[in-house]
Amino acid sequence: MTDATTRIGNVTITALVDTRTKGPCTLLFPGVPAEAWEAHRAHLIDDPPNVPITITSYLVRSSGKTVLVDTGIGAKDRSLARNGRLPEALTEAGVRPDEIDIVLATHMHIDHVGWHTTAVGEAFLPTFPKARHVFHRREWEHWTPTDVAHAPGNEHIVDCVLPLEETAAIELVDGEQALTDELTLLPTPGHTPGHVAVAIASAGEAGVIIGDVCHHPAQMVETGWTPLFDANPLLASGSRAALMQKIEDERLLVAAGHFAHPGFGRLVRVDGRRSWRAL
Ligand SMILES: [Zn+2]
Repeated sequence: MTDATTRIGNVTITALVDTRTKGPCTLLFPGVPAEAWEAHRAHLIDDPPNVPITITSYLVRSSGKTVLVDTGIGAKDRSLARNGRLPEALTEAGVRPDEIDIVLATHMHIDHVGWHTTAVGEAFLPTFPKARHVFHRREWEHWTPTDVAHAPGNEHIVDCVLPLEETAAIELVDGEQALTDELTLLPTPGHTPGHVAVAIASAGEAGVIIGDVCHHPAQMVETGWTPLFDANPLLASGSRAALMQKIEDERLLVAAGHFAHPGFGRLVRVDGRRSWRAL
């Protein structure tokens, strides 16, 4: 297995796998013909090909703070098969839940806020009791109104997000907010209205945790490829194109939580064409 920890200046990032899933290319990317995937076969599995999807949380240590970026799919007993193991992965990394200072959700889809809470009897309590739970204000305002939170398919908002209002510290942020003096939120809307990436800059090195700006390395090259999950495909493609350009221009180290574990790599040029090079 690839080493699950990397370093950007004085910041360390550890990839913690919550779970893994997969799906047919043509199902997950309905607008992309099967033959167009041939150029990206190295990043597919199975035959006929499936897109592998890892569901990763990143444990980031920066400026004396322990930050958890996304919390996986969780393990609540709902209709979806939710088999996340983030708590075990944290234990294996030697981290207790009460050592997490900040929990940041790149967005509020089910595979990013699943372990924000843990079911205890009938209640859902914060998994990370001492953490400040940071959300982008637009994301919060999109998902938490009663009619949206209680709409079919959004049960995870009721289980994983709303209970925090009574039981945890919540911080809503706007724009390019600093999380620590080395971590800055980067609004990248489209996948969801308030989706954010996390820019990292420390001791002359730089990187970015991209959230769901890309679900597969092919999208780093084909920035117009839209997965089923993008709420606003045009806006998402624009955010993706802009972030990939920034990654290339600034030679950023990338952490991509849905790519093959641990999701660390760089965007390079091979024969003039962009290509994902995993670390
Ligand atoms: Zn996701």
